[in-house]
Amino acid sequence: MRSTIVQQIAARKPLVSTVLEKPVPGKPGRAPRVSELYGTMTFDQRQMKARLSKPAFEKLISTIERAAPLDTTTAKLVAEAIKNWAVEKGATHFCHWFQPQTGVTAEKHDAFLTLEDLKHPVEKFSLSQLIQSEPDASSFPSGGMRATFEARGYTAWDPSSPVFIMESGGGRTLCIPSAFISYHGDALDHKTGLMRSIETLSNRAIELLALLGDTKVERVISTLGTEQEYFLIDRLFYVQRPDLMMCGRSLLGARPPKGQQLEDHYFGSIPRRVQAFMVEMEMELFKLGVPVKTRHNEVAPNQFESAPIFEEANVACDHNQLTMEILKRIARKHSFEALFHEKPFAGVNGSGKHSNWSMSAHGSNLLEPGKTPEQNIRFLAMLLAVMRGVQKHAGLLRAGIASPGNDHRLGANEAPPAIISIFLGDQLNHILDQIEKGVVSESSTADAVLKLGVNKLPEVLKDNTDRNRTSPFAFTGNKFEFRAVGSSASPAFPVTLLNAAVADGMSEMCQALRDVGVTGSKAKSRPGAVWEVLRSFAKSTKNIRFEGNNYSEEWVKEAEKRGLPHLRKTPEALEQLISKESVRLLADTGVFTQQEVTSRYRVRVEHYIKTLQIEAETLKMMVDEFVLPAAFRYHSELARGVNAAKDAGIAAPQLDVASQVGQWIQQVQAKRKQLESSLHQVESLKTEEQKARAYSTEIAGLLEELRAVCDEIETGIADDLWPLPKYREMLFVS
Ligand code: ADP
Ligand code: MG
Repeated sequence: MRSTIVQQIAARKPLVSTVLEKPVPGKPGRAPRVSELYGTMTFDQRQMKARLSKPAFEKLISTIERAAPLDTTTAKLVAEAIKNWAVEKGATHFCHWFQPQTGVTAEKHDAFLTLEDLKHPVEKFSLSQLIQSEPDASSFPSGGMRATFEARGYTAWDPSSPVFIMESGGGRTLCIPSAFISYHGDALDHKTGLMRSIETLSNRAIELLALLGDTKVERVISTLGTEQEYFLIDRLFYVQRPDLMMCGRSLLGARPPKGQQLEDHYFGSIPRRVQAFMVEMEMELFKLGVPVKTRHNEVAPNQFESAPIFEEANVACDHNQLTMEILKRIARKHSFEALFHEKPFAGVNGSGKHSNWSMSAHGSNLLEPGKTPEQNIRFLAMLLAVMRGVQKHAGLLRAGIASPGNDHRLGANEAPPAIISIFLGDQLNHILDQIEKGVVSESSTADAVLKLGVNKLPEVLKDNTDRNRTSPFAFTGNKFEFRAVGSSASPAFPVTLLNAAVADGMSEMCQALRDVGVTGSKAKSRPGAVWEVLRSFAKSTKNIRFEGNNYSEEWVKEAEKRGLPHLRKTPEALEQLISKESVRLLADTGVFTQQEVTSRYRVRVEHYIKTLQIEAETLKMMVDEFVLPAAFRYHSELARGVNAAKDAGIAAPQLDVASQVGQWIQQVQAKRKQLESSLHQVESLKTEEQKARAYSTEIAGLLEELRAVCDEIETGIADDLWPLPKYREMLFVS
């Protein structure tokens, strides 16, 4: 069976995309340019402009860009324009597209079809259908916030994220990005908190900028670019592996002699079958207005990455969800399965979703050291405010990236450790040290900036060599790269928490400025006072800065000395979510009420427990249905050989192997029994917290131990008796 599959896969041909061969309508003989395909399946600004009156267009834009409320008359015009556009594009249905806390998106489709006078078919789409829908919310996780008898939840249109048409199975559906809230207005999804955090961050940044002398800023947005890593394996392998199908990761599998040690996959040439998939996936995303920019091989065999041009964080999060959806779908079309799990294969690198984050005021990047002294002061202030927020809420940020999958990746000597620290690079470190020493406190702004060399930073920081790939939160020239985010996660939650933390850092800085008498916009006339504040921030944030090797054992010790939280596993990390400090922060910033935080905590703890339960059940099943039967077969084959040899009166060299296999079988049986009884014990624990902790230690440990023996059996028995696709096949045959 296995060898037939391998042969079939090895003979596969790339499914070459024809998108670029179809001539452009009206331009015969010429293939379309990406700029012509781009956004054709979204109701973007070009469509808005073409289909709305000037006043309506302007109102909609100010809703999108400044979150201004949209009046009913305009909203009706927008609904009509969207419907006409969608129907012309061949859409038959519409849906509110939202992100409950399941980790995937949800949608419920309705047809545009209406029967007028119960007879005449017409396509209709009302304003209320655009702005609100009421899916049955009882089946989505709510963490106890919404008792099932009161199952009403609403989805509400988010005008700031463009609607789009999804093509699938020959049908076209208009998708309306929406928030998902309870009857009482509680956030049930990822988007609502994110939007609130964006708003708060904007307000606090405006306040800080005003104190620094820039009173003209009306809105600050957070920007985000997510580098999506994933594995591709052939679907024929995938369907033969219950662990990949049930858990998204392999629960057993012997490591092949060659993994990634030759480092020959990173940035290597992309295999043709994969390239064909990427081309089609990217074309689909282009049509949906997702600006995917970079594609390359990653470190592990069959691991790849796709990264977009950064966008406003809310849109970027929607676009990342869309990317994952399209990626998975197109992969299947090309007979691949895309794996987003943080650690699908032991022994080779896992996958992350590096989240590049910054803030922008009217197109100007606030983390970009600039040309004028004022811009450079602004840069330093923003940088230190971010650092203060991250330092104060390191535990919360760790909680935001906690998931059962990420537990296998964080700290596994390839990904950032579970300790949050900040990498700045030599130059910037030096500058902060100088500020801290008070070298510049009395100088005029311009002199100080010159003295520090901040004005030279833009060139220096472009130098990619001053990078630290081991840091969970690294400054990379004009943005931070939050590298600890897991590949399967929605970036919305980590970014929500980051925005809230930074907003807090900014508040603290505003207060410090006021305390030294910088009020109104007197910063310019009081450079000494501003430097004093920067100095105190440089001092107080020092312990979160780390430039060395984050993978080293010394760092773990050093971090403990510094008092930085080291939360190794999800259950302990999640507890940070409901710490007093976190609850206070999230309430103060208006991001989540206490109830909303608690619900997020519960949803995550429950998800953790269920994931480990599924893993344990799957491994037991695989042991019973695959591992033991294969071992028994080999064992009896050997035993037959031994008997035959004895009968023939010759030596029986099979004897040693048979007894080794016999021992493995007994070990597997014993471990399996132990797992079974531990599961019973853990399930009888009283609280969810206790269960989660026990799963993360005892059960996770037993899964590893059981796996280790299974892997011995895999390599210790005849290849033709092993029923499951092997690592060397899944990772190298395509
Ligand atoms: P590098 O390869 O050095 O990490 P890239 O320029 O390739 O940097 O960027 C990686 C990701 O960071 C991309 O998705 C990019 O769009 C994003 N990015 C760049 N600038 C910003 C910014 N100001 N805010 C948010 N993301 C950004
Ligand atoms: Mg990068």
